[in-house]
Amino acid sequence: MPLIKKRQLEVWAQLSGEERERFIESLPATKDEIEDLFDYLDVRMQEESCVHNLRFTMQFLMERRLDMPKVMSWLNENGGYCDCEVLQNIEPNWFLAFDE
Ligand SMILES: [Zn+2]
Repeated sequence: MPLIKKRQLEVWAQLSGEERERFIESLPATKDEIEDLFDYLDVRMQEESCVHNLRFTMQFLMERRLDMPKVMSWLNENGGYCDCEVLQNIEPNWFLAFDE
């Protein structure tokens, strides 16, 4: 795993209290919408393997009329450069950060 991603994940896993609130405020969509994205990708990735772009993510964002550039740059910043990376790099840490 490239160094920059590892560092971001560590930071994310260490979020707590006030930091977590600020993190939620910085989200490009609601917490529920982002969790829906994970569910959507889980289902779609069982049907078809990743072609290493964000095609399913983009479909979801279009269907839900979310802010595509904003969400995609947020995903990139957090290590999600394609659909499988969103599930591999972001989802586990998301639940680490939010599951009490
Ligand atoms: Zn991929």
